[in-house]
Amino acid sequence: MQLIIFGAPGAGKGTQSKILCERFNLVHLSTGDLLRKEVKTKSELGYVIKKILDAGELVPNNIVGELLNIAIKSVKNKDGYILDGFPRTVDQAKMLEGIFKENNFKKPIILFLTADEKVVIERLSNRRQCSECSSIVIITAVKDNCCPNCGAKNSLFKRDDDNEETIKNRLEVYFKTTFPVLKFFKDEGEKIIEVLGTDPIEKVTKNILAKVK
Ligand code: AMP
Repeated sequence: MQLIIFGAPGAGKGTQSKILCERFNLVHLSTGDLLRKEVKTKSELGYVIKKILDAGELVPNNIVGELLNIAIKSVKNKDGYILDGFPRTVDQAKMLEGIFKENNFKKPIILFLTADEKVVIERLSNRRQCSECSSIVIITAVKDNCCPNCGAKNSLFKRDDDNEETIKNRLEVYFKTTFPVLKFFKDEGEKIIEVLGTDPIEKVTKNILAKVK
């Protein structure tokens, strides 16, 4: 399976990607994860990236493209991929063809997870990520400070960009710069599969599988 998973921040791209990757032995290529990983190394580039992420702005194409290419080259023994968080601009969408050709990637299905703006703001404000298994959880599902997915204690953290001001800017950037990528794909004749991202997690997965088949 080859998928581009597209949608607003908080639409459930990360959660669904993890489920589908486990089920179908796919690699999850999340540019957000790749950028956060670079920040963790505390490299010079990491500091530059952190400032951009904390502001909710987009990281320049050359940096994202390079990290993505390195990640793709290290993929082994997988039955496909899910591209999550890329492309986020029309220029990045134009870069894709070259990336696919260079890495012998099959053409992906484009999946658009739709979500109401009010719901995603609430989701982003109330979510935590697990540093052990990297799953995303809603704070109401957390008991005794343990990750509901892997059980790790005190492993849940709030992403630095999940604060009110940055969320606002991330959504502005999404509607202004990322959303037009859908029109670009449509104009190119690509089929877009739409699934409501705000249904319960299992239902979203079920709907994705029914439509992707
Ligand atoms: P995400 O984990 O997908 O929500 O991404 C978190 C942040 O990483 C975004 O708000 C951007 O600052 C940055 N980012 C992720 N993917 C891209 C991309 N394709 N191009 C530019 N910046 C990106």
